[in-house]
Amino acid sequence: MQTPSPINSPTISPAGIIRPTLVEVNLTRLAENFHSIQQHVAPALVMPILKANAYGHGLVKVAQLMQDLKADYIGVAMLEEGILLREEGISIPILVLGGILGNQIPHFIKHNLTICASSIEKIHQADEIAQQLGTKAKVHLKIDTGMERVGVHDYSAEKFLETAAHCKHLNVEGIYSHFANSDAADLTHAHLQLERFEEILSFYEKHHLPTPRLRHMANSGAILQLPQARYDIVRPGIMLYGVYPSPEVARTVKVRPALSWKSRVVYFKVIQPGRPVGYGSTWQSDHLVRAVTVPVGYGDGYFRAMSGQAHVIIRGKKYPVVGRISMDQIVINIEWDSAFNNDEVILIGEAGGEKITAENLAEWAGTIPYEILTNINTRVPRVYVQKTT
Ligand SMILES: *Cc1c(COP(=O)(O)O)cnc(C)c1O
Repeated sequence: MQTPSPINSPTISPAGIIRPTLVEVNLTRLAENFHSIQQHVAPALVMPILKANAYGHGLVKVAQLMQDLKADYIGVAMLEEGILLREEGISIPILVLGGILGNQIPHFIKHNLTICASSIEKIHQADEIAQQLGTKAKVHLKIDTGMERVGVHDYSAEKFLETAAHCKHLNVEGIYSHFANSDAADLTHAHLQLERFEEILSFYEKHHLPTPRLRHMANSGAILQLPQARYDIVRPGIMLYGVYPSPEVARTVKVRPALSWKSRVVYFKVIQPGRPVGYGSTWQSDHLVRAVTVPVGYGDGYFRAMSGQAHVIIRGKKYPVVGRISMDQIVINIEWDSAFNNDEVILIGEAGGEKITAENLAEWAGTIPYEILTNINTRVPRVYVQKTT
């Protein structure tokens, strides 16, 4: 097994013993995915999205990689994520995508984080606080073109744009919007959102005001399906990690998963027919079977909803998880095959020509791969490797 990198040190005992359940992130794959996206969208710039612990891949380590790769910008969801990155020495521009509260503004300014400005009141606040601090606040204006979440509606944004343009202590560096349906087969709504955004941008020409330097709108779905939405910078999240945003999206850029989730066999037993397995006794065999126990469960983000459907790979072969998934353990039916303590168990990843993806887990759990990746609990150590395959 690869030596864990220092970032995982809190999860490693002094003796160097690491929990057998771990997430292995291949930094080489992440770099390849980043470069594929970069090539595809050039001359547009790239703002990798690192919210929710970099989609489970580890916020700080992924940010360090993106900085090494000279990414133009980083996007996170919350102020706390931005501050952590600054404290860890990340110096490239960081946009906090979420809505903000007025009392957070001084922290944005202090850490040189870019504010998502989503109301006239907030730009006034930011302008005032920046003035008091004798500096300028960097902002990207958020326009709601059809998501109804955060942002000023496209149909009532004139005053917002005008106010922002005249605030002396704001550096209005960007203007952006977000798609609700860019990963769908039917792009009608996405095209409508694009039209509305175009209309917004025409404001600057009409009023002879300079357009903000960074116009942006494209998430993974739009990077793959809407070349006209690239503008000055794109915001890939899920595809940076090598996962496509939906089953129906056009796969116009080749990316490959960077994350594997692994554990090891810790127990072997033979189960008699008529002796049910796990809570609720939901599964039993009608013949003698061999079974192994693996130390992972819904407490790690291996969703209980996958009970009765999930499979794992042991010794290059797929086997079913039987009985209910517990908080910390699962039981695998290996029929009459052989498996031994310490054998590797693949929960997400590839071995011996078999493959299990985040999409597979999402299907078993009745959710999307985003939720699978972002729910792998932080108690699962992240190990970083560099492998070219
Ligand atoms: C999460 C997010 C993204 C990235 O979305 P993906 O579908 O993962 O590419 C881009 N922009 C905003 C505003 C987001 O919140």
